[in-house]
Amino acid sequence: MIHFIGAGPGAPDLITVRGQKFLSEADVIIYAGSLVNPELLQMAKKSCKIHDSAYMTLEEVLKVMEEAEKEGLTTVRLHTGDPSVYGAIREQMEELEKRGIAYDVTPGVSSFCGAAAALGMEYTLPCISQSVILTRMEGRTGVPEKESVESFAAHQATMVLFLSSSMIGELAKRLVDGGYTPQTPAAIVYKATWPEEKVFVCTVGSLEKTAAENGITRTALIIVGEAVRYNGLRGGGGSVGNTGPTGNTGLDGSGGSAGNSGFERSRLYDADFTTGYRIRRPQE
Ligand code: SAH
Repeated sequence: MIHFIGAGPGAPDLITVRGQKFLSEADVIIYAGSLVNPELLQMAKKSCKIHDSAYMTLEEVLKVMEEAEKEGLTTVRLHTGDPSVYGAIREQMEELEKRGIAYDVTPGVSSFCGAAAALGMEYTLPCISQSVILTRMEGRTGVPEKESVESFAAHQATMVLFLSSSMIGELAKRLVDGGYTPQTPAAIVYKATWPEEKVFVCTVGSLEKTAAENGITRTALIIVGEAVRYNGLRGGGGSVGNTGPTGNTGLDGSGGSAGNSGFERSRLYDADFTTGYRIRRPQE
């Protein structure tokens, strides 16, 4: 049996309870060493054989899985964040299906959730944006043309960009070409939930400068859209989590104190609103 497991974004205690259980019972662990926190491996049994997939090809990964299976062993394939997001899991699953090897998937906390936590923000603010676009710039892996950064930028929704911090100058240009103004709030979150986490709030126009000044070229997410304006770091609060420096370059903080001015409150908790759980409570 192969268990695909989401390791979470970095902090070892952000793995799920189920993921932790499978990890502690595994005979073989294949982990994505480039981004999975190695501290998680301390949960493994002493006898567990551990492989870092950063040094392996797909064929080598499959060979380890096949051999473990022949011996009746349990394998954990540990992916960063949630395995369904840029996890390259389907190609492994297809090969396992061909070989008649059973697998299951334990979800994880994706880094985009860790980044929102670091920023103290909500991606889906009423009247600001009710959609989150998860995407990337093309690198060695292409992106279908109909999913260009420009085409998504035209929506002005909240956008989270993976795998793109090394091309941030080009990214910012394409975001503006697509429709965001250079003044649109943006953020860079480096190593969300790791001890070395860094959070920078800036604008689309200052993304490149912010990344360059802080040496950010990898392991970062770029978040774009008006919803970023309403982050928990506004007004120099900086009280959210274990965030590092918060270079507030460019945002005027016009939202003022951390009230919810500028966006509408959710109808879900409105006293004037009846839901399946609560009846309307007329205002006195
Ligand atoms: N499956 C992962 C994404 C893997 S793709 C997930 O759900 O998060 C790898 C990219 O994810 C990195 O290039 C970076 O853009 C982002 N990433 C992964 N972990 C991160 C973290 N802790 N903080 C910021 N970005 C992260």
